[in-house]
Amino acid sequence: MSANIKTLKVALLGAGNVGSQVARILLEDAAALAARTGARLELAGIAVRNIDAPREVEVPRELYTTDASALVRNADIVIELMGGIEPARTLILEAIEHGATVVTGNKALLAVDGPTLYEKADAAGVQLSYEAAVAGAIPILRPITDSLAGDKITRVMGIVNGTTNFILDAMDSTGAEFADALAEATRLGYAEADPTADIEGHDAAAKGAILASLAFHTRVALEDVHCQGITAVTATDIASAKDAGYVIKLLAIAEKLDGGVSVRVHPTLIPREHPLGAVRGAFNAVFVEAESAGELMFYGRGAGGSPTASAVMGDVVSAARRLVLGGPGRTDSTIEVLPVLPIDAVATRYYIGLDAADQPGVLSKIAALFAENGVSIETMRQTVHRDRDEAKNAGPASAELRIVTHRASEAALAATVEAIKGLDIINSVTSVLRVEGV
Ligand code: NAP
Repeated sequence: MSANIKTLKVALLGAGNVGSQVARILLEDAAALAARTGARLELAGIAVRNIDAPREVEVPRELYTTDASALVRNADIVIELMGGIEPARTLILEAIEHGATVVTGNKALLAVDGPTLYEKADAAGVQLSYEAAVAGAIPILRPITDSLAGDKITRVMGIVNGTTNFILDAMDSTGAEFADALAEATRLGYAEADPTADIEGHDAAAKGAILASLAFHTRVALEDVHCQGITAVTATDIASAKDAGYVIKLLAIAEKLDGGVSVRVHPTLIPREHPLGAVRGAFNAVFVEAESAGELMFYGRGAGGSPTASAVMGDVVSAARRLVLGGPGRTDSTIEVLPVLPIDAVATRYYIGLDAADQPGVLSKIAALFAENGVSIETMRQTVHRDRDEAKNAGPASAELRIVTHRASEAALAATVEAIKGLDIINSVTSVLRVEGV
């Protein structure tokens, strides 16, 4: 390697879980990175709040600074790993203004103000990359924007939140209720002290908006994403889904439909043999369907310092290569302005669990209501709980009914469920969940 190769100054903002691992790689692997990029990546400084805080990785103390702004002004590449909205947003805008390439993993900021940042970067001709913002270590954004750039993506379905996958997987394998599985996730460090953003689906929705924007070359904002979390998923839902050959996952689903795109996050039944059905624990996976490529699946760790640092470094190397070769930076291609359709425009299959009286004619009454509302039944299974109820002396025997429909609109399904609730033979509607991957 020539001693005269270009030096690129790298400013690292943040030395937490991810930032400290990025610093480690930049320092430990400097020679390999220089060989791969054709430039010396010089870690010019690391901005933190507290210079004396204990760190996971040993870094020369003089690299730490509390003056993030000064660091940004002198950098060729700015890696933002502070998290949060401010001062991250101001610093990224400052970096763009100074012509620096920006790499970030800040999904919260991209969800709130991504379009402003993309536009500023485009206008300034600088690169803004954020592979780490979706599904941690998994290379998914560059495959979508580069490898599949010559194809047409039709659908993306992702398990993009490890906390909720851990919880649902624990419920599936142990039969635990949601609250107990969440407590276990918190105890093991998979859930944060305030798990709202994860369990209510907001984190997955932010990632869904990014995936949809890139897959369909359009702008999808966080507020366009229909979002339902997993707090209402019960052990009964999980058990009956399991019994019927399904597993419940929190999916972020982006799809191209006639007249626009749809992006939604909700607990979803998928067949256990579907590739996404095999994603256990806190792992993430993204299943992509494209016109020519067919089905692809990307799988790996969705979080953690080292895995996420790998995704960050992929962006850094790619940015450095571009800076060495010259040419303008590129964010993403928003060549289309597609309407984001409301959830009512989406037709999916549904799974409905019912607790009904075990009487003659029950099935035909229920089937008639589905037909009246234009919802076609694919399968209906009945399990009679005569022994259980008699043992408990709980009155007449009841039947558990599990119905899977053909594709139906949300409105038609809601009308059907309302009508079923009005039947005197129905004790309760125990589950209404969407089904995908069939
Ligand atoms: P973290 O552990 O909380 O670290 C944040 C770092 O930023 C700390 O070093 C902190 O300094 C510094 N910082 C925060 N505010 C600052 C300020 N105002 N001025 C100067 N320094 C400041 O966060 P993380 O887990 O590494 O996550 C970083 C980013 O990566 C976030 O956007 C996150 O969403 C994203 N991400 C994380 C993961 C993951 O697994 N952790 C996965 C994917 C994406 P002090 O140390 O001095 O407090």
